[in-house]
Amino acid sequence: MSKSKPCLVVDSLCAGYGESRILDQLSFNLDEGQSLALLGRNGVGKSTLLLSLMGLNTHQGGRIEWQSKSLLKVDTHQRAALGIGWVPQERYMFPSLTVEEHLTVIARPGRWDLASIYQLFPRLKERQQNMGNQLSGGEQQMVAIARALMVNPKLLLLDEPMEGLAPIIVQELLAVIKRLIQEEGLTVIMVEQHARMTLSITEQALVLDRGQAVYYGSSAPLLAEPDNLERLIF
Ligand code: ATP
Ligand code: MG
Repeated sequence: MSKSKPCLVVDSLCAGYGESRILDQLSFNLDEGQSLALLGRNGVGKSTLLLSLMGLNTHQGGRIEWQSKSLLKVDTHQRAALGIGWVPQERYMFPSLTVEEHLTVIARPGRWDLASIYQLFPRLKERQQNMGNQLSGGEQQMVAIARALMVNPKLLLLDEPMEGLAPIIVQELLAVIKRLIQEEGLTVIMVEQHARMTLSITEQALVLDRGQAVYYGSSAPLLAEPDNLERLIF
């Protein structure tokens, strides 16, 4: 499925917050339709990398190119318009908006509309008139992903979508994300603590430790060598 020209190029990226450097000389590529598991212990810089891709922290060096153009002078809003969708680690719900209002506020035409989203998340169809503050954690996470899809992104950044959810909801969300990656061919970067589950649905993996890559390659070998995975992540 991969094409020769990557849609995302990150080269020697240094980034952080003000003077504080979190990401140190980080490089990776992503082809259109590829999926990347972004793994590592707490505080190693996973969310920081997604913030860098969205232009929400301090760029300190290196390149970020999206569809062959530098993103460095492109603001967050324009990055979204160029097709980069982000589901932050914190789920921002508006207590006084219904599920349906959450989904339609920033929709753009494309593969995903209300009908196809409700097919992907039947639970949200049942809850379409519920307010944001009347949803379970799992339902809120579904709204967060659905809302990002309604903008019809070309690249979806997911920051710990399964964090704090009951095992049955984790399975439900995992199946949805697997479908997005494997059937819809969406380009995805997914941060997760559930490393094995994530590796089982992604092609590529990038493991960070203190802002540097300690593994970058296919997901399969990491799954096949639990001792190696354990050493890198736990
Ligand atoms: P977790 O698995 O806990 O979500 P993470 O890998 O996503 O961790 P980051 O949130 O990227 O880690 O944090 C990396 C480092 O950057 C940490 O040392 C953190 O304290 C620091 N950091 C995060 N956000 C800020 C901020 N807004 N200002 C300053 N430092 C920050
Ligand atoms: Mg994080």
